[in-house]
Amino acid sequence: MLEFPTQLYLILGWMSIVVAFLTFHLVSKNAALKRRIHPWLIAALGALFVIVASWSTGSWWYALVAIVLAIIGVPLAIKLVRFCSACGLTVFYGVGLIKLNYCPRCGSRLDQ
Ligand SMILES: [Zn+2]
Repeated sequence: MLEFPTQLYLILGWMSIVVAFLTFHLVSKNAALKRRIHPWLIAALGALFVIVASWSTGSWWYALVAIVLAIIGVPLAIKLVRFCSACGLTVFYGVGLIKLNYCPRCGSRLDQ
């Protein structure tokens, strides 16, 4: 188990990567690029989550919980995000997992 400041730095580092990832999705209007790299980034974030959770705690139980969360969360995070080809908006499913077929910004049909 790592000492407290190191744990905090690892968690803050992981959260910084997540914030940078979300900022990219919100700022970039290139839907093709986002559609191409999104699954890889989500998988990398899931792997980093497992590494940070298990390394910082030093516990197999936390590692197991992190692996289960990643196995559930990574495919969901890939499946529940779509991109508008017309305006480049990243479209997350709404509250209650309601599937959107049209872009909430420009009204174009979402094709993914
Ligand atoms: Zn749109």
